[in-house]
This record gives sequence, structure tokens and C-alpha cells, in this order.
Amino acid sequence: MQILSSISFPSTPFPSLLSLSNLSPDLPFSFPLCAPRTPASDFVSYSSGRGHSCSAVGPKRSGFMSVIERAMDEEEYRRARAEVQKKGVDVEGYFFEGISVGGHETCVVVPSLNAAFDIGRCPARAVSQDFLFITHAHLDHIGGLPMYVATRSLYSLKPPTVFIPPCLKENVEKLFEIHRAMSHDELKLNLVALDVGETYEMRNDIVVRPFRTSHVIPSQGYVIYSMRRKLKKQYTHLKGTQIKKLKLSGITDTILSPEVAFTGDTTSDFISEPRNSDALRAKVLITEATFLDDEFDIGHARLHGHMHLREILEHAQWFRNKAILLTHFSSRYKVEDIRQAILKLQPKVSAKVVALTEGFRSSYS
Ligand SMILES: [Zn+2]
Ligand SMILES: [Zn+2]
Repeated sequence: MQILSSISFPSTPFPSLLSLSNLSPDLPFSFPLCAPRTPASDFVSYSSGRGHSCSAVGPKRSGFMSVIERAMDEEEYRRARAEVQKKGVDVEGYFFEGISVGGHETCVVVPSLNAAFDIGRCPARAVSQDFLFITHAHLDHIGGLPMYVATRSLYSLKPPTVFIPPCLKENVEKLFEIHRAMSHDELKLNLVALDVGETYEMRNDIVVRPFRTSHVIPSQGYVIYSMRRKLKKQYTHLKGTQIKKLKLSGITDTILSPEVAFTGDTTSDFISEPRNSDALRAKVLITEATFLDDEFDIGHARLHGHMHLREILEHAQWFRNKAILLTHFSSRYKVEDIRQAILKLQPKVSAKVVALTEGFRSSYS
């Protein structure tokens, strides 16, 4: 694409454009990329909690002490600001970022896996991930796909690998043909129709397998496994040089450990499917809880192909995950409603329950 040369950026580009313009195809970036400069008056907003007054609001001093104090304040401020601006959540050694609002957009990014689950409206942070896993064709999950492919090309990133349920292949190919015809762009991607039961090697130490979910249209989730090879028991007595000679002739077992599972939209039926046990014992399960309260009950959630938070509790015994990251809350709820509902649930579930509410927009706020 030759679009870049014809674009004239305004003198103060959007932060996302600024961020992406720094991209190197070889270096996956992490977010947030650039923190906007903040005037000193913002000191007032962040309390250190140690009764330490900030230089911007405290009494003026002169000399050496004043310099030291200013440096300390600056450091404290930077720390406070970093907390406030921190996006995403750290869970079980993985950093998750994303935006997920039921019916509006869902995209969860895991930079250490170089992966995004669903693409929502293609948030900027998803663009640098080489692997994209699409769960189903509702637009709040797949709508940003052409933009994802086009934006990667715009920044000279390599064509992405996009996994889809096989039943979508023909239509997704048609979709890209139409966009190619309209835009005259190549829109290169490696489209992989991966079926439940199949395995794809993303890296020599990571593989992915889809699993069955239950929604109002065809859907599937994905489990990402770490993979290591271990010497078979009968060879453990051998010396290093002997092992080296034998290595090519299959003397190792492949050990797969489920790390991260993503369901996308689903009813709780996926929990009782015996073949989904890996999703329920992945270190982190990312799933949905579209409804939280009595106004819309479990019956309503099931009718629309979703889960009610109460079902997490009802099925608590089946979750072997270390953490459950909840997404896809209906926009009728405020962030505080979500926080309260999860606080009530947490003592009854052994897994740590975390809500992904970054970028969350409620229709009431
Ligand atoms: Zn959805
Ligand atoms: Zn859906």
C-alpha cells in the first residue's frame, strides 16, 4: 500500500498514530506506548498516601533540600501516574489488555503470546499481534478484521495469521475479495480454518487447539498450550552424547500444558462438555459474564447465547483454572456494579476472578 506518502498528519497526531509510527516490524510493541505530557497541576490529583505534599501545591522552598524534594515528588508523581495510566491486568504471569463490552466490541490482547482474541473494532493495541483468533462472526467480535489486516500492511508488518472456525472460511474469503476489489489493496493474510480437535503450532513451544462453545451462531473457543519435549522414561539413563545421537528418532514425549483459554460468547454449556476439560484447567480462562443481576436472569442469558455471572458460581466445582478473566459485560452495568458483583462471587470460587473493564463504557455513565 502506498497510502502513507499521501497522508498529511496534523501537527499533533492522534496518540495511536504516533505510537504506531514508531513501530518496527521486528519489534512487537507494548502498550501504553506514549504517555501524554501532563501539566504539573495534575500533582493535585494523586495523593501519595504518605502525607507527603507535592511541590506543585506545597509551600515553596529554596536551596538543596528543595531540589531533593522536587526530585522525590517527581518520582512519586511518575509512579502514581503510571498506576493510573496502566492498562490491562496482570494475571498468573500473563498481561492481558483489551476492550470488551457486550454487543459493542470485544478484543483481548496477550502480548507475550503475540496474540489477540477476537478483533472487535480493531483497537490500536491489537495491530502489532501476529496471531488473531476469531471465535464467531458477530460484528462485535469480527467487525475490525479488514482494518486489522489493512493497518498491519500500512505499517509494513508481516501478513497476520488469522484463525477462524472452518464454517466461516468461504465468507471471510469473499469479504476480503470485496475489500480488495474496493480498495485495490492486497490485504494479505494467512487465513487458517482450524477445526475443533486440530492442533496448530504457533511457535516451537506454543500450540493452539479450538474447543466447542455454545452460542446462537456457530462458534468456537481456543486453548493456547505451552509445549515442551521430555525424554521418555526408558531413555533417562542415557548419557548426553547418546541422547544427542538418538534425538531425531523420537525418544521424547511432547508435554502440552494449557496456559490460556478464550471462550468468546457462549452459554455455560461449554463447561459440561467433557472434551473441554483443558479450557477448564488452563492457567487463565477468559470467558464472559454478559449479565450480572436479577433483572436479566440465567434464562435470558441462555436464550441469547450468553452466561450469567451466577452460572460461574453454580459451576464453580468444574473450574480448575488459577484465574478467570471475565469479559463481555452488558453496557447496562456500571464498572462499580461489576466490581461489586465480583466481590460477592470471589469467596465462593477457588480461582481468582478478575474483570476486564478497561475501556469499558456503560450506557449510564
Ligand atoms: Zn458478543
Ligand atoms: Zn456473539
